[in-house]
Amino acid sequence: MKRFKSLDYIKNSYNARISQIAKERKTGKKIVGTFCLFVPDEIIFAAGADRIILCGGKNETVSIAEQYLPRNVCPLVKSSFGSIVNNGCSGVKSCSHFGMVDMVVAENTCDSKKKMYELLGDYVPTYVIDLPQRPDSPEALKYFLGELYKFKGAMEQLTGNKVTIEQLKKEIESSNETRKLFHKLYGLRKMDPPPISGVDVLKVLQKQYFLSTDELKKSLRMLICEVEQVEVEWAHKPRIMISGCPMAGGNTKVPEIIESKGGVIVAEESCTGTRSFWDLVDEDKDPMLALAERYIKIPCSCMSPNDRRIDNILELAREFKVDGVVYYTLQFCHGYNIERYKVQQALKKAGIPMLAIETDYGDSDLEQIGLRVDAFMEMLA
Ligand code: SF4
Ligand code: SF4
Repeated sequence: MKRFKSLDYIKNSYNARISQIAKERKTGKKIVGTFCLFVPDEIIFAAGADRIILCGGKNETVSIAEQYLPRNVCPLVKSSFGSIVNNGCSGVKSCSHFGMVDMVVAENTCDSKKKMYELLGDYVPTYVIDLPQRPDSPEALKYFLGELYKFKGAMEQLTGNKVTIEQLKKEIESSNETRKLFHKLYGLRKMDPPPISGVDVLKVLQKQYFLSTDELKKSLRMLICEVEQVEVEWAHKPRIMISGCPMAGGNTKVPEIIESKGGVIVAEESCTGTRSFWDLVDEDKDPMLALAERYIKIPCSCMSPNDRRIDNILELAREFKVDGVVYYTLQFCHGYNIERYKVQQALKKAGIPMLAIETDYGDSDLEQIGLRVDAFMEMLA
């Protein structure tokens, strides 16, 4: 596959972001750390704060977290917490971002995260948005809207700035613009074969919540422009959709295996994928209500029932002409692991083969996963 110059640009922007944030802090700007898609960026930005994501995708800090947390907690939570408690003091390369954060904005999602957030309060001021977990009822929307108003108040208190309707509308427009750029990039992946690999797209997705919005948009425009110019010779490779847990920055393990075994990833039904941009915020409604309506619909496995996730998987599989789905879960992520059954049933009914892979951030199962992916690719071919 072609090497895209814009990916180097994104990497450089990512590296430069730390000093950009350090400068912002000197001017008094507040920095908010987040771990989840349910936290609306628009409110953070409208309050004049900046935001970085703190989700851990590296294996190095998992063992540090295990001194505090049980081993049977998902690696994303352990890696994140390990980075935070380590904070560069033990020789393991760790999260240089955490020390720059004035407040963590957390959310009540899965049990592991909820409990980790309780411990986080000892290290940094932590604000928790309470999510209703039966999202389809009108009461849930009302409750979530109330939570978003409280969150807006917390951001106003943190920054000393009032969040105005005009500012919110501006931020919604800006975030929708980014979402539309991702749609455009994904649209190009519908080609057969797609002109960009899944691993390349994933690296951009992983950085989206770390780059500034302006840099992200600029990078996406550059990338789209480059991808549009690629001329690919036809050679059919099995078109794979990954569905399941997020793949936080540093974790490209399974996508790399899939693409090294002859498949090509054309979509990710994941928080490092379509869940992050698929739905836009309605720009014609009251901005707070529009945000509540958009964010409560995120089809995360912490929601029950979560049938809209199944509908979305089937829709994506059709749109991206997927040959097979790799259902990707992290060890001890009970929500996504349990939902596997329903997803498998739905895909079976639709005639789409699925391979389930449950793994961690380590490399002890690389060979075994490789063999299973090999056999899956052979079957699809
Ligand atoms: S999987 Fe759920 S809890 Fe995790 S980042 Fe996505 S929305 Fe948040
Ligand atoms: S991967 Fe699963 S267990 Fe881990 S933080 Fe996300 S939802 Fe929670």
